[in-house]
Amino acid sequence: MNKKTIRDMSFQGKTALVRVDYNVPMEEGVITSDKRITASLPTIQYILDDGGKVILCSHLGRPKDGADPQFSLKPVAEKLSELLSENVVFADDDEVTGKKANEIVKQFKASKDRVLLLQNTRFRPEETKNAGDFAKQLAAYGDVFVNDAFGTAHRAHSSNVGVCAYLEGVLGLLMEKEVSMLSKVFDNPQRPFVAVLGGAKVSDKIGVVKNLIQKVDTILIGGAMAYTFLSAQGYNMGKSLVEEDKLDLARELMQEAKEAKIKFLLPLDIKTTKVFEDTSEFAVRKIDEVQDDEMGMDIGEETVARFAAELKNAKTVIWNGPMGVFEFEHFAQGTIQVANAIAESGAYSIVGGGDSAAAVKKLGFESRISHISTGGGATLEYLEGIELPGIAAMSEK
Ligand code: ADP
Ligand code: MG
Repeated sequence: MNKKTIRDMSFQGKTALVRVDYNVPMEEGVITSDKRITASLPTIQYILDDGGKVILCSHLGRPKDGADPQFSLKPVAEKLSELLSENVVFADDDEVTGKKANEIVKQFKASKDRVLLLQNTRFRPEETKNAGDFAKQLAAYGDVFVNDAFGTAHRAHSSNVGVCAYLEGVLGLLMEKEVSMLSKVFDNPQRPFVAVLGGAKVSDKIGVVKNLIQKVDTILIGGAMAYTFLSAQGYNMGKSLVEEDKLDLARELMQEAKEAKIKFLLPLDIKTTKVFEDTSEFAVRKIDEVQDDEMGMDIGEETVARFAAELKNAKTVIWNGPMGVFEFEHFAQGTIQVANAIAESGAYSIVGGGDSAAAVKKLGFESRISHISTGGGATLEYLEGIELPGIAAMSEK
């Protein structure tokens, strides 16, 4: 990775404008998980220890028409102050960078306080459009810009990309970790390089499959996604989730895999049921034995064994998408056993995707995976091979 990070900079006597991800879960004004706030502490502490001041900005939720007290970052400022053991000034301005904030920032710079949090960037409609003066106004508060919000790196907004027209941008420690872990996989992977793909829909993952076909040695497909591929091969999938309008595309992808001379493995057997619920009344069917009134819920044992054999020799594994409806106890086995095979392989392993990351944590494999990418949409776009604007805008070393 050739982007500058905060470790390439000196913050002595400077004010850093830092874009963080404080899009925390809230219920009636109370923060229900402070994980994202805790995750931002190393970058903030680094800048403070280096003699700088920190002005933080973030979005929270999706306020529809500008300022909305329901989406105020005030509770975050309070929580941050507690976690940092340091006074955090909150610039409570509905315009984010309006007259009120200008005054508060001016006082802050002259004071002994070292940390300030601006109001929700999405209170300004220009934020998501990356237009107007908002980026310029934000940039005016800092001497340097630090981007530590990986979750929005796939969006070109005022507060992560727009500001870079006015300030030099460098990566914070969280972003640095995400980018270096992901680029390690794609720039120079140790082989065999195996991709495990699953989840609900092929249509969500077309770009990911296309890109990975060009990068990996083997692709293992599970989840509901597999039924569209199997159906495209002529198998009857009964009532399973099949995307009828994606059958041609599925054939095209299988052809691309063939031309790239990679292994493209689909399930050999499927756990089926007649109703979509967590029931012990299931059958295990070979792929040519699925009944008309059945739907697939998980991969079967034979498939697990076949996939595990591939994973055993893998040196690099990238995983996106659960193997079955892991939220149901009776259909979590495929996902659990594949997670186990990845952990046992000793391969350098990355899990990306909102539900996949949740599955790995819920099933207790967090410590046995090399890196769980927190990006959601940003991670998926990275896997699609798309350059993320929030990273592209940062200075080169
Ligand atoms: P991610 O968020 O990691 O990218 P997806 O959103 O693509 O993953 O897929 C996750 C969802 O796929 C889970 O909610 C899971 O229940 C669902 N899923 C997996 N296998 C099946 C299946 N056989 N039938 C229906 N849904 C499935
Ligand atoms: Mg999902």
